[in-house]
Amino acid sequence: MGYIEPAPIKDKENPLESMMSRFDLAAQLLGIDEQMYYILKVPAKQVIVGLPITMDDGTIRVFEGYRVIHSNILGPAKGGIRLDMGVNLDEVRALAAWMTWKCAVVDIPYGGAKGGITCNPRAMSAGEIERLMRTYTIAMLDIFGPDRDIPAPDMGTGPREMAWLMDEYSKAKGMTVNAVVTGKPLVLGGSLGRTEATGRGVMVSALAAMEKLKINPYKATCAVQGFGNVGSHAASLLHERGVSILAISDISGAYFNDKGIDIEEAIRYRDANKGTLEGYQHAEKCTNEDLLAAKVDVLVPAAKEDVITMNNVASINARLIVEGANGPTSANADNVINEKGIMVVPDILANAGGVTVSYFEWVQNRLGYKWTLERVNRRSDRIMKEAFDKVYEASVQYKVPMRIAAYLVAIDKVSKTYKFRGGY
Ligand code: GLU
Repeated sequence: MGYIEPAPIKDKENPLESMMSRFDLAAQLLGIDEQMYYILKVPAKQVIVGLPITMDDGTIRVFEGYRVIHSNILGPAKGGIRLDMGVNLDEVRALAAWMTWKCAVVDIPYGGAKGGITCNPRAMSAGEIERLMRTYTIAMLDIFGPDRDIPAPDMGTGPREMAWLMDEYSKAKGMTVNAVVTGKPLVLGGSLGRTEATGRGVMVSALAAMEKLKINPYKATCAVQGFGNVGSHAASLLHERGVSILAISDISGAYFNDKGIDIEEAIRYRDANKGTLEGYQHAEKCTNEDLLAAKVDVLVPAAKEDVITMNNVASINARLIVEGANGPTSANADNVINEKGIMVVPDILANAGGVTVSYFEWVQNRLGYKWTLERVNRRSDRIMKEAFDKVYEASVQYKVPMRIAAYLVAIDKVSKTYKFRGGY
């Protein structure tokens, strides 16, 4: 019998504290009263489950799974499921709250949630992951539901895992319920454009910010940290719009080429190389820290939280940071970035393209009707651009950085909704 210990909760620069310190600042600026403050701060529901799984060798290991619904004031809760060794309750709570703010910033009718299982999916077979996802789904049967809480992919999960979740949930309910989860394979009711949606939103918000900073995309350079679903699509779409991607990275290290990297070719290499850039020849190998310090116009952290911290923020050289990941910048590092005059398009705005197209997927499932890719992209681009403009205006009006402005927009919307509903 084995037990996968959840990752220890770090007391410094922990994602929950990072999120809360921004929330506190914005709540103060908006003059949120104490009662509302606690309503928005304390998660609505937090579930922890033990998941005993029979491994391929016949032994049983117990994994710990989480689901936190931070808020369902705006509508059913929405948010991904993460499979990673770093998953712990504090991380899931921070990620769930980020989902509430994210959905509010892009003005879609969802609350925020997040789920996770502490495990290393890279060291597990497909069968083991399938059993884990199915057991987790059953454990969350009363939590999930198309009108309650709608999961989606996050780090370590994708359409394959969402298909297992949908199947297990549907079997338990005795009917096909495809709107219970988004990010599904197309044949199961997935939406066209969902896979690249987060990266596409990063591209749209990066271009909008570049326009404000008068950076010409055709002359711009960019470094993208993380080459998973978000990073690789963001890199590819920015590249398509003329931006030179000088550096990319993944768990195997970072790769730099001052003439620019051919992103489509790097993606083909990764896909043929068990999903990693290990051994990539058309660029010089360097460290992740070198990539973060690269002298580029735009830096896109698109891997995970706490990447830009007090340990490395002094060496950041970019003029613009567009956060593809959730929480890549610690709260302390934020202050230094602001002092340096670097513009940040924060996570809850920059990476909201994914949940926006998740919303479209859910709408299509409920309508029983499929949209064209052109419609999905046009509508999500418009939502992202409008959200960017709204946050930019708030940042000018309140004379605060874009991150605090995004929190202002989000907290204002959620608290007003709560007031109109008169409690919940
Ligand atoms: N996991 C993604 C995020 O953090 C997508 C969530 C969703 O589509 O519900 O935004």
